[in-house]
Amino acid sequence: MAECKECGNEADKLVSVKVDGKAKKMCEDCADRVREEAEVAKESESVIQGMMGFKGRR
Ligand SMILES: [Zn+2]
Repeated sequence: MAECKECGNEADKLVSVKVDGKAKKMCEDCADRVREEAEVAKESESVIQGMMGFKGRR
């Protein structure tokens, strides 16, 4: 058993996921969550860029 550094739970195995360019070891539950959060962050970033672009044109 290994301890997940993200949620503190013990997991059968840890997977390594890249977060902000750094590889982090975490359980699969956390890995799924982090991947989802990364997708959302990417989307909201493009929304903000779109808003800034809109502002810039005015
Ligand atoms: Zn975890």
